[in-house]
Amino acid sequence: MKGTFPTDIFQSLRTPFYYYDADLLRQTLGAINREVSKHEGYVVHYAVKANVNPGLLRIIRQAGFGADCVSGGEVERCIQAGFPSSKIVFAGVGKSDWEINLALDNDIFCFNVESIPELEVINSLAAAKGKTARVAFRLNPNIGAHTHANITTGMAENKFGIAMNDMETVIAKAAAMENIKFVGLHFHIGSQILDMGDFQALCNRTNDLQAQLDRLHISVEHINVGGGLGVDYQHPNRVPIPDFKSYFNTYARQLKLRPGQTLHFELGRAIVAQCGTLIARTLYIKEGAVKKFCIVDAGFTDLIRPALYQAYHKIENISSDEPAEAYDVVGPICESTDVFAKQTDLNRCHRGDLIAIRSAGAYGEIMASQYNCRRLPKGYVSDDLYPGFTDTNS
Ligand SMILES: *Cc1c(COP(=O)(O)O)cnc(C)c1O
Repeated sequence: MKGTFPTDIFQSLRTPFYYYDADLLRQTLGAINREVSKHEGYVVHYAVKANVNPGLLRIIRQAGFGADCVSGGEVERCIQAGFPSSKIVFAGVGKSDWEINLALDNDIFCFNVESIPELEVINSLAAAKGKTARVAFRLNPNIGAHTHANITTGMAENKFGIAMNDMETVIAKAAAMENIKFVGLHFHIGSQILDMGDFQALCNRTNDLQAQLDRLHISVEHINVGGGLGVDYQHPNRVPIPDFKSYFNTYARQLKLRPGQTLHFELGRAIVAQCGTLIARTLYIKEGAVKKFCIVDAGFTDLIRPALYQAYHKIENISSDEPAEAYDVVGPICESTDVFAKQTDLNRCHRGDLIAIRSAGAYGEIMASQYNCRRLPKGYVSDDLYPGFTDTNS
């Protein structure tokens, strides 16, 4: 389907590559900011692991978002991209010493701590620098999210977070540590969540835990409920912007914030998924014994979600308006899982046609690998493209 993509400019770029629609990203950020401004004390961080393209980071920072990092490398990227360190949080079950030191040196806002041994290490590394580390405890709320099993994180069996029953113990331990300041509670239950009931369950759990702390006269400055809001992979054109109104209203209605408390969110996918498209070129049309294959020059090294999570991405032939036919869209990699879609309808394909794999802005480019000695795909932000643009580095 010939649509709204700048296909003339695409012709001069080496495929496969990622194309990011900066206007859609700005509209998405605007929609979030509009909803957030209706609620007292709400703060949104971008979960950087979804995509670290510098052009996207700049736009997200300009919209005033903080950054949620899960590695020292991400903390470095965010600082390079100009995020104020006072808006950076650092989560993850396995933080190395150098990563903790990097975060301490940059005076980030908060460590989301996932175990007592980690708390002890942060305390001693902070002591060595004469600093105080602000920490929130990531609690495992034992809530199942209605999403793919590989992307739920808040069940008791998952490796993430501290068991709820240990909450009082860890807070007491933190209070006794010289170089630790306890500032909040953190949760993150999973990804691609579209059932607001899952977030409601998290609110209820948080309310219970807060009531428990109230009885001990322990006050908590910050509650961080993580991210996880999903996007409509089926209908990227009809629903390009997620339903942020319902999302924030769910928290506003269900979660009982204490006076002066701040509620933090860490959205990744919902911010960047829909603005990104993987553009590939058709290499061959192969008539198999029972079906037709559209063999493209992108593979799971460029976009691994279909192979890793059986994820669905809408696919369009943006060079053809001919009648649709069913194809298996496959990549060149020597693995049977290198399939983007089976028996999907595309306008009739020919060698050289550009194929758009939609909703690929989150967990796409950043998960690319060099398996089979393939080149990493490039990412282009629409703001930087103009008629006649050629990439001199490609
Ligand atoms: C991955 C992650 C997020 C973002 O998840 P999305 O589903 O992309 O919104 C938020 N917080 C933490 C701690 C994460 O690990």
